[in-house]
Order: sequence, then C-alpha cells, then structure tokens
Amino acid sequence: MIATEDLKIADRNLEKKGFLDVDIDPSLDLEDEIERLKKEKNAIILAHYYQESDIQDIADYIGDSLGLSQKAATTDADIIVFAGVHFMAETAKMLSPEKKVLLPDLKAGCSLADSCPPALFRKFKEQHPNAVVVSYINCTAELKTLTDICCTSTNAVDVINSIPRDKEIIFAPDRNLGAYLEKKTGRDLILWNGSCMVHEVFSNEKITKLQLQYPDAKLIAHPECEEHILEKADFIGSTSGLLKYTKDSDADTFIVATESGILHQMELRAPDKTFIAAPPSNECACNECPHMKRNTMEKLYLCMKYEKPEVNLPPWVIKEGVKSIERMLEISEKAGLGLKD
Ligand code: SF4
Repeated sequence: MIATEDLKIADRNLEKKGFLDVDIDPSLDLEDEIERLKKEKNAIILAHYYQESDIQDIADYIGDSLGLSQKAATTDADIIVFAGVHFMAETAKMLSPEKKVLLPDLKAGCSLADSCPPALFRKFKEQHPNAVVVSYINCTAELKTLTDICCTSTNAVDVINSIPRDKEIIFAPDRNLGAYLEKKTGRDLILWNGSCMVHEVFSNEKITKLQLQYPDAKLIAHPECEEHILEKADFIGSTSGLLKYTKDSDADTFIVATESGILHQMELRAPDKTFIAAPPSNECACNECPHMKRNTMEKLYLCMKYEKPEVNLPPWVIKEGVKSIERMLEISEKAGLGLKD
C-alpha cells in the first residue's frame, strides 16, 4: 500500500518526472495486477512493436502506427493505455476524445517529432502556399493541425498516389522516408529536413561484415533508414511489413535494420528462424529507441492504478488535427489496409 503523503508528493512531481515516482511493493505480481486493472477499469493496452517484450506480452493489441491508430479509433474500452510514445497517445486522444488516454511516461517523446517544431513548419508552409501537406504520423498534434493528410510507412505510397499529379506536395518530418517515397512514387516532394535518431545510426560497414558472416541472410530495413542502408536492403517495409516478410519468406536468417524491439514479435512468429539486430555505428544500444524504452512494467501498472499521467489536448487541436488522421484512415481503408489482427 502506497502512503497517501508519498502519492501526493509523486503527483506534485508528475510533470517534472513524467510519471508517478513511487515505490511499488516488490511482492506484487505486476502481470496479475495489470490484468486485474484492465478488467476492473475496462481498459485496453495498445503497444508499439518497439516496446520491451514484457509489455508486448501483456498488451491487448501490438502493432505499428497505422494498426494502433485504427485500433484506437474503434475500441469500446473506456480507457486507452498507450504503451508507446507521446505522439501516438495524442493520436489516440484525437481519434477518441471522449476516452481517457494514459501514457506510462509523459517524457516518452520522439526525436523525429521534435525535429519539426510547428512554428518553424508554419513559415516553411507559407513559402509553398499551394502545396498539399503530407505528414508522417510521427509528428506532434499541433503539426497535424497544419497537415492535410497524415501517413504511416505502411500507407505512405497510397497517400502520395491519392494526390493529383499536378499538385505540389510538402512531406514532413522525415527526410529519409520522403526520399524513399520520391523513388517509389516518381514524384518530387518538398522535404522537411527531419530524421529519427534510431534509424540514422546503422553502420554500413558493420552490416557488410555481418552479410559476409551470414551470406544467406536477408537484410531488411525500415524506410526511415538512410539511403545507403536502403540501397543494400533485400526488403524495405513498415514494422508490420517487415514482420510479415520474415514470417512468409523462405530465408531463415535476417539482419534487421530498425528498432530492435521488433525482434521479439519476429521470434514469436517464426521461432525456427534467426534474427540479428543491425548494429549501430558505435558501441551503445542506439538501435533501441530511448523514448520507447522509458515505459516499464512498473510505470504501466502505476498509470493504470492511479489513471495518471493522462494525455489531454486543447479542443481546437483535436478538431483541426483529427481531419488529417481521418483522411489517412479513409485512404488506407480504400487501399485494403484495414485492421487485420
Ligand atoms: S524510433 Fe525514432 S521515430 Fe520511432 S519513436 Fe523512437 S525516435 Fe521516434
């Protein structure tokens, strides 16, 4: 039992710390407690593939940004607990404004979303007044208010192709995904110069060494990776695309160039195959997203028990921002990219 005074102090420090920093009774079985809280509160846990494996294992739905948005839009739970990063919880709030949306750690941000501050982007947009703005869903809620259509790496090609060819297109915030889309669609895009800290660190040299060591391995990469990695990849796809490829492919060894949390689902779905996380250019664990990994089972339990921290947005942001997400969901539906599992 947590003392009331400790809880009050933790609550006062919530904004500064990002989570309720209180000690948990070590004898508690967190998995059992989380399962109990899910039922008691009619809560659903949505987890991104880049979460720690114990969080993935207790989630009700695990997916990439598209699947998670589709699930957030259709769930009948009263509380959505988002085991992911801040922009994902914001997206869930925009799609389900009447529901309570919880994020285990408010400081679970995203370097890519941060690389496109809305005030600067507004000026950039003013220089191209006739352009349609397509933003990768990895952006802030406020940026979504300046966006015509959102996209994820699963539906980005369909989104670009839905825009008449005589229209200029601004693509933000990821320059690597933007350059990849230029190649895939044959369109010139006006690119914002943003990037993800995780997908920029893969070492060409170390991947080549691994390929020599495992000559039959397939190199698979997320389109947020830099061009020199994409050029040598055997397959490029969104997290769910990579997952499907590894399960369906005849190959039995894969070098995986994206956040290493995805390996857990790959190993669960194809236990006889070998998955090697593509190494970063230095010795740190840079192929792990430090923002995604801020969430822990302890923080997940505390946020469900006390229903804090909660993600809220100004009504005008929800009203203006949700249009770009709904447009994306319509295009995905038409392209046959509806919710699958
Ligand atoms: S992996 Fe990159 S794009 Fe994804 S949440 Fe982390 S910083 Fe953002």
